[in-house]
Amino acid sequence: MPENVRVRFAPSPTGHLHIGGARTAVYNWAFARRYGGQFILRIDDTDPERSTQENTEAIMRAMRWLGLDWDEGPEAGGSSGPYLQSERGPLYRDGLLRMIEAGAAYPCFCSTEELEAQREAARAEGGYATYDRACRQLAKDEVKARLDAGEAHVWRLAVPEGRGDIMFTDAVRGPVSFPAEAMDDYIIVRSDGTPTYNFVTVLDDAGMGITHVIRGDDHLANTPRQILVYEALGEPVPTFAHMSMIWGSDGKRLSKRHGATSVEAYRDMGYLPDALINYIALLGWSIDDKTTLFDRATLVEKFALDRISKNPAIFDPDKLEWMNGVYIRDMPPQAFVHQMVPWLDAAGLASADDIADRNDWFLALTPLVTERVKRMDEIAPMVRFLFEDIEIDDTAREKVLAKEGAGEALRAAADALRAVEDWNPAAIEAAIRDIPPALDLKPKLVFQAVRVAITGSAVSPPLFESVALLGRERSVERVEAALASI
Ligand code: GLU
Repeated sequence: MPENVRVRFAPSPTGHLHIGGARTAVYNWAFARRYGGQFILRIDDTDPERSTQENTEAIMRAMRWLGLDWDEGPEAGGSSGPYLQSERGPLYRDGLLRMIEAGAAYPCFCSTEELEAQREAARAEGGYATYDRACRQLAKDEVKARLDAGEAHVWRLAVPEGRGDIMFTDAVRGPVSFPAEAMDDYIIVRSDGTPTYNFVTVLDDAGMGITHVIRGDDHLANTPRQILVYEALGEPVPTFAHMSMIWGSDGKRLSKRHGATSVEAYRDMGYLPDALINYIALLGWSIDDKTTLFDRATLVEKFALDRISKNPAIFDPDKLEWMNGVYIRDMPPQAFVHQMVPWLDAAGLASADDIADRNDWFLALTPLVTERVKRMDEIAPMVRFLFEDIEIDDTAREKVLAKEGAGEALRAAADALRAVEDWNPAAIEAAIRDIPPALDLKPKLVFQAVRVAITGSAVSPPLFESVALLGRERSVERVEAALASI
């Protein structure tokens, strides 16, 4: 069992939190919680042109909404900060000095043109387009003289002579090996003094004591380069776990083409955080070969790296929507009322105070809604008729109210509703059901006429419950108004 687990989610704030990033966050979070470790949020904002404060905030907001709490990171603090790469410059300069002292980094004065010519030549020979290490051979005093003269240079990592192939055991993919010839003396610090991704990632991961690096397999090829830095610094190499990519249904990497991908877009469409976590957890991980629905506690209890799949996961929005519908139906009614009211509030139909005033009414509304929606944003349009005056839609008027017998049915319904003793769905139903035989009308016509009069439309939540919720006075008024309009 892994001990003293420290894992991190390290998004680059070049956009909002998307499904793929959220999956990385969920897996790291679940892994930390499973083993009683620490989950660290680090903001990889080294690209000043594409990183924004707004994106950082949006990422944190989406994580909080999902309930992915971090133990260390922005706002949470912690002893291995700062947690923004843009604030870690001095640590990166120290890191370079350590590399130089260890003989693991050297300055390279080669010009871009020289390097390009080399790459061309290497390509022409069909080999790896690696740097020829010319500057690694320079005499010490020449190097010193050129540095003192302020000559433009980058810093390169010196791959140890005879290092051999770089191998590691990935917790997801098993043994992985990269050939020694492919290992470039790659650049760790650019000519403008900024450190590169593969270098800062290791400085940060080592500095933060990260024990397991769980990330997308787009970073697999970076791993051997990062291992070389750990080795140069004499730092323990963490366990790596590389997850396969997420694809759209067309087998292409998940992107905007496949519709909404940001977590907050799903929030705004009425997805519940628990449903989204459940669905995201299944994008490349599973408890067994049959369990689809599980809560957060089960995710934490069962999460393990050895059940992360090597195959790409397919993002299926229909399955996510189905799952959200299940979560909506399974929610305890009172909890659902508290989820629902903000949506009604946003549509201008109710406010939080209404819950206190009419909690029982909202509880009675709950089953009508939960049986019929898969997303919270579907609720307001469906129940608007209970809150606001209605307008009967033209098709309903034509198809139902224009029929022979509709007027008679409505006249009888108004009387029947006035006469109902106990105002409840069963009593209302009994009263309306008496009408067709008494007037020799088809039951369907009677029910449809009342439905259109009450809701304005030929499709609605169950009729008698709706009438009960609307109340006697308003129901009778609507039936009479419909009758008058025929
Ligand atoms: N900021 C990097 C990214 O978002 C982190 C990669 C890593 O986990 O090492 O891709």
